[in-house]
Amino acid sequence: LVEIKNVNKTFAIEGRSAASILENISINIQEGEFLAILGPSGSGKSTLLRIIAGLIPASSGTVSYLGSPIEGVNPGVAMVFQSFALFPWLSVLENVMLGLEDKNLTKAEKQAKALQVIDIVGLDGFENAYPKELSGGMRQRVGIGRALVSEPDVLLMDEAFSALDVLTAENLRRDLLELWLDKKIPTKAIILVTHGIEEAVYMADRAIILSKSPAEIVKDVKITIPRWRDKKSPEFLSIVD
Ligand code: ATP
Ligand code: MG
Repeated sequence: LVEIKNVNKTFAIEGRSAASILENISINIQEGEFLAILGPSGSGKSTLLRIIAGLIPASSGTVSYLGSPIEGVNPGVAMVFQSFALFPWLSVLENVMLGLEDKNLTKAEKQAKALQVIDIVGLDGFENAYPKELSGGMRQRVGIGRALVSEPDVLLMDEAFSALDVLTAENLRRDLLELWLDKKIPTKAIILVTHGIEEAVYMADRAIILSKSPAEIVKDVKITIPRWRDKKSPEFLSIVD
């Protein structure tokens, strides 16, 4: 679905030599995969996500989507940010509609799609609220809604749960996992950058661990602990309820 091949990234800093951040990163993300990316602070996880999204270019190497190298923004992905990145002067509905900005749809069509997604992320009835009237968890639901509304093949999440308190984060993880596992969203793969090994084990079925900068892949492992994946198991429910 998305193939990252031999990606290197150096940041040229004016007046100083260029700093190498990512070294020779290759990842093949298959349809159906929930991939977690872990690594120390400053290792380049957010940089890697931005390169996958096509928001910044790799210094060398390629990112391909559906077999073709991307040029500019990756049309197959949408991103959820740690700090939500909502526009405070826009309502929930308007923030979610921003996810459809570059789609060729009428305003009414955008509204209809946004309202559907607002319902899916559990914000039914809050479409006219403003971000400051919402809790952190609800704000991140808006962030997830804005990403999902364009029906991206790949959802990129950059520490999407780390700004939330423990219980709110747990609720949101569970709800997202449920949407994903029960195929209530058409998303074909999820890439989650996180500092939490438990979060990775709980949500993902594969984990990639980066070394400290300049980051290389030090581990690429399948996660095979089925009970964490089975949301109907009594163990799962006793933890999250
Ligand atoms: P964290 O876990 O703290 O979020 P991270 O793994 O996401 O860290 P990045 O934000 O990708 O790390 O940053 C990796 C390195 O690249 C850091 O040393 C950072 O200072 C540097 N860096 C990131 N963006 C730029 C930029 N635009 N110009 C120069 N250096 C940058
Ligand atoms: Mg980061």
